[in-house]
Amino acid sequence: MARRDGQDAAERVRLRDLLCVAPGGGVDLAAIDPRSTPGLPARRGRQWSREQIAGQAAELAGYQERLYASAKRGGDRRRLLIVLQAMDCGGKDGTVAHVVGAFNPQATRVVAFGVPTPEELAHNFLWRIRRAIPDPGYVGVFNRSHYEDVLVARVHRLVARRTWIDRYDQINRFERELVDDGVTLLKIMLHISADEQRARLLERLDDPTKHWKYNPSDVDERAHWAQYQAAYGDALAHCSTGYAPWFVVPADRKWYRNWAVTQLLRETFAALAPGYPPADFDVEVERGRLTADC
Ligand code: AMP
Ligand code: MG
Repeated sequence: MARRDGQDAAERVRLRDLLCVAPGGGVDLAAIDPRSTPGLPARRGRQWSREQIAGQAAELAGYQERLYASAKRGGDRRRLLIVLQAMDCGGKDGTVAHVVGAFNPQATRVVAFGVPTPEELAHNFLWRIRRAIPDPGYVGVFNRSHYEDVLVARVHRLVARRTWIDRYDQINRFERELVDDGVTLLKIMLHISADEQRARLLERLDDPTKHWKYNPSDVDERAHWAQYQAAYGDALAHCSTGYAPWFVVPADRKWYRNWAVTQLLRETFAALAPGYPPADFDVEVERGRLTADC
């Protein structure tokens, strides 16, 4: 009985409502505990979350297939773009693996954005982003994004203050344009604590199979923790809009992070409600042709 209660509660609480940065309002990241588990039913933990995620994989795959089918055969321009931002070790890679694991790779496009190339730098900061927008029917995942241009670019003074301030409006206009063209944006900040980041960096040092993931410059970046948090706070406040809201997922606990991202995906897909397109041929005529064919 307790189990059913827990599941019912999970159905009732919309993670989109709980984790959303209110459009037009601010966000105090310091007030969001990275170890907290908003929306998780009482007395549920790691094991329960894993079971839930496993049980919901087919549902997510079904949504994705219907989105893909309606673009391929129905001319539907809708697509889903998941934007992941986090401090180093925040779990972007793990989340990408987790999210993509639920989907058909053929209809999924993952793009990671690193330091811009000279060619990219020669263009407006949105140029490389536009080229990576998923086609209709696809699920796109951005591992970092155009938000780096108001985060790292601000913290490291890569551009003038006026430039990054102007980018908030440019981003909002760009995202409005995407939404008008059928893109549903699911923008997620994975929120970790400085202590958890240190623990994850130390884990990487302790394990030779993780050394490839360790980047000494991550330790230098830690020195800018407060500036990054301020930059994140401003970016989320300025660019959480009614048409493309930001969500903050407490991410010190990986199992909660995966569960919360899965719920955000389910809720977002449920609102999209993709359906299979009707046949654009006569099923009975086709059946007849195949039956006559020996
Ligand atoms: P990683 O995600 O660990 O592979 O690192 C990618 C690096 O690229 C991070 O240090 C980012 O801050 C950096 N990066 C991503 N986008 C930009 C950008 N637009 N300008 C400057 N650095 C960036
Ligand atoms: Mg890194």
